[in-house]
Amino acid sequence: MINILFSARDALWPQYQPVLIDAFAKQGLEVNLMRETDAPETIDYLVYAPARDDDDLSVFTNLKLIQSLWAGPDKLLRNKTLTQPLARMVDPGMTQGMVDYVLGHILRHHLHTDTFAQAETWLTDVAPPLPAERTVAFLGIGELGMACALAAKAHGFNVIGWSRSLKVDAPIACFAGDDGLIEVLGQADIIVTLMPATPATDGIIGIDAVAAMKDGAALINPGRGELIDDDALLAGLRSGKISGATLDVFREEPLPLDHPYWREPSVLITPHIASETRIPTASAVVAANIARDVRGEGALYLVDPALKY
Ligand code: NDP
Repeated sequence: MINILFSARDALWPQYQPVLIDAFAKQGLEVNLMRETDAPETIDYLVYAPARDDDDLSVFTNLKLIQSLWAGPDKLLRNKTLTQPLARMVDPGMTQGMVDYVLGHILRHHLHTDTFAQAETWLTDVAPPLPAERTVAFLGIGELGMACALAAKAHGFNVIGWSRSLKVDAPIACFAGDDGLIEVLGQADIIVTLMPATPATDGIIGIDAVAAMKDGAALINPGRGELIDDDALLAGLRSGKISGATLDVFREEPLPLDHPYWREPSVLITPHIASETRIPTASAVVAANIARDVRGEGALYLVDPALKY
């Protein structure tokens, strides 16, 4: 029998429990799925979306894997008691939601939709170009970024991508490295940031990145607030260098009411809703990944402790 502890907000347990039980059965695993335990040393796997920041993970002395319900590992990595292997969530349902969000906001910037809202003017010569005449750059072309990039490409946009490691044989033009970043920013009409928050990505959209952007570029950030140097972005927006920004994630959430983003006319704020873990598809991923580990095939989606993603 495999002991699995579900540790997340109370409200999630009744929603996940029956679906997870089904998913483990489909994998042929006999599991004891529990909500609480007095014997943490007996737990084999933790299904985890912490309700609090200060869980003591050192009590799980025989844990083989923590399977997160979140895509972003940053918050979990801040827990100093984490020593066990950590798998982040890669959920087809979450990916689909992110594709919807990103494509929707790319189209909003592409069509200049906001210009027409209550314009009270019959604007002329403002018909948008076709997608092929616009370049959309994805900073971060992992699970989510690449899915969004392919959807934008399928829609007809000219799509380019930038990542830590250079992707060869990718279906879009790919770049890496500092020079690659400057190149990508200089080509892009619309920039989408879908990287994790790590020491290496902190403030990556800063003064230099803004200076490297094409005049009038738009930014969409559903990645993490830490990717943005807020002062540099605000300066870029106020000077008109950046035409608009759609921001879903922030260094402090909820975004404080006195934050200047709220009053910046060319900023659209969404409250960290770009995409979320979907219970049916995520449960199937949890069960399949734990089954892989049980069978000795090695879990997928492991977070690299050195790279922090
Ligand atoms: P992945 O780990 O699959 O992809 C991350 C991408 O970022 C990879 O292409 C990676 O490069 C690139 N990257 C990482 N570090 C660097 C760096 N220093 N320089 C350049 N590129 C870098 O993550 P996902 O696609 O699954 O998720 C991305 C992020 O999206 C999550 O970490 C999370 O923060 C955010 N997210 C936000 C949600 C929301 O609702 N707003 C919902 C879900 C996720 P390489 O390919 O070389 O490894």
